[in-house]
Amino acid sequence: MARIEIHQTLCKGCALCTTLCPEELIKIGKQINENGYFYAVFTDNGACKGCALCAKICPDVAIEVWK
Ligand code: SF4
Ligand code: SF4
Repeated sequence: MARIEIHQTLCKGCALCTTLCPEELIKIGKQINENGYFYAVFTDNGACKGCALCAKICPDVAIEVWK
């Protein structure tokens, strides 16, 4: 079982991670962070494989992967 943690204050809402996740577990949410960006939100439905593609693509190092 794996999961990710998205640090919303680091996220700039570029959506790169949303396009890469093979399980489509990441979406850009409707809330704005303290820097004024719509930030990415993880849907933990148990399907995360811990592949870390999302973390590797994130230019702002906003995603941690836990296995
Ligand atoms: S670790 Fe892989 S499966 Fe899990 S959210 Fe990131 S891209 Fe998706
Ligand atoms: S790739 Fe990083 S900065 Fe871009 S939306 Fe995802 S978590 Fe946010």
